[in-house]
Amino acid sequence: MVNTTIKTTKSQEIFAAAQNLMPGGVSSPVRAFKSVGGQPIVFDRVKGAYIWDVDGNQYIDYVGTWGPAICGHAHPEVIAALHAALEKGTSFGAPCALENVLAEMVINAVPSIEMVRFVNSGTEACMAVLRLMRAFTKRDKIIKFEGCYHGHADMFLVKAGSGVATLGLPDSPGVPKSTTRDTLTAAYNDLEAVKTLFEQNRDEIAGVILEPVVGNAGFITPDAGFLEGLRELTHEHGALLVFDEVMTGFRIAYGGAQEKFGITPDLTTLGKIIGGGLPVGAYGGRRDIMSMVAPAGPMYQAGTLSGNPLAMTAGIKTLELLQKPGTYDYLDKVTKKLADGLLEVAKETGHAVCGGQISGMFGMFFTPGPVHNYEDAKKSDTAKFGRFHRGMLERGIYLAPSQFEAGFTSFAHTDEDIEQTLAAARDVMSSL
Ligand SMILES: *Cc1c(COP(=O)(O)O)cnc(C)c1O
Repeated sequence: MVNTTIKTTKSQEIFAAAQNLMPGGVSSPVRAFKSVGGQPIVFDRVKGAYIWDVDGNQYIDYVGTWGPAICGHAHPEVIAALHAALEKGTSFGAPCALENVLAEMVINAVPSIEMVRFVNSGTEACMAVLRLMRAFTKRDKIIKFEGCYHGHADMFLVKAGSGVATLGLPDSPGVPKSTTRDTLTAAYNDLEAVKTLFEQNRDEIAGVILEPVVGNAGFITPDAGFLEGLRELTHEHGALLVFDEVMTGFRIAYGGAQEKFGITPDLTTLGKIIGGGLPVGAYGGRRDIMSMVAPAGPMYQAGTLSGNPLAMTAGIKTLELLQKPGTYDYLDKVTKKLADGLLEVAKETGHAVCGGQISGMFGMFFTPGPVHNYEDAKKSDTAKFGRFHRGMLERGIYLAPSQFEAGFTSFAHTDEDIEQTLAAARDVMSSL
């Protein structure tokens, strides 16, 4: 018999206190478990594929701090490198040789990137890339897709994914109409809609930004020809193509989605994995475009802690570990076993679901599907997902607390971890 009652007294105490101290008791909305019901658990420590909460319960983790923990949490080599870096100080606010090392690694890995600028988060990277798109093309309008998330800057909070989708929020109050007037939206995978927007706004569109594989509206893959079509349309209209690879970069392949699908955008944003668990973001791309960034060029963007030695160190060590032969094959193998297994279990227990994976990124919707865009994703039975999520949690499996977030594995996840997860899923789904 599986033990289905976990003791979470301390988690509850700490979260109750947190609610008086911080809005919703959290530092980022999805963490509050609002869409799945029940109380969030409060973590004490993480290691490899596992997390331990403040009550001492152990879970197999499929959130991986939302993507960065691709080598497993607290990898001993990353921790050792950080210890050594720490001895030399935490921030210089001046050039540091480690920036060159990580910059070279990123440039060598990501096909579109010839020059890179480091920032402190994915949000910052996306804000800066938007300014750069506009500066370079001297045009103001951009196209984004419904359900795609590009951080929380005003201009992107239009039909956004992630927490905005999870909480079912309308576009956020506090975002002036004037800042989103130039943000045009289309359904993901709808090339015709993009074509129409380009025709209706001739010579006014700076570029198209997208998650090349969506992770912030649940896991949604690009249809055959979609990325190619966007590349052609942007060329045709003198606009830029920007891949937001904050999630997919170094995740679905070492060179990201652009390597996986063989489509080279003009600019790319990165984050998550390249910080190895420390706060980081980056944007990069064609040399002629990046040369517009200050102080090489006139487009202003800066950061007190940008390129700090700790984040650079964790990023460098993480990418080094990812370069080992077989890494991505292994990620693909364990994750396929998990994703296929979940679909199989759902079928056996009579639940209509759809889903899939690419490398160490996966997802499953409680709808028969197929899911090509956010509208399709919203047909999911989110109440059922909530019960599934809680059941899994009680059996020691930590999934993203939202139907509209992708899941992540690491190369610390073993076959046994997957088997244990599938056994728990069978148990939960039989009782849904
Ligand atoms: C996480 C994410 C962001 C935002 O990054 P933060 O570091 O949370 O600011 C932007 N774009 C995508 C695709 C993301 O997954």
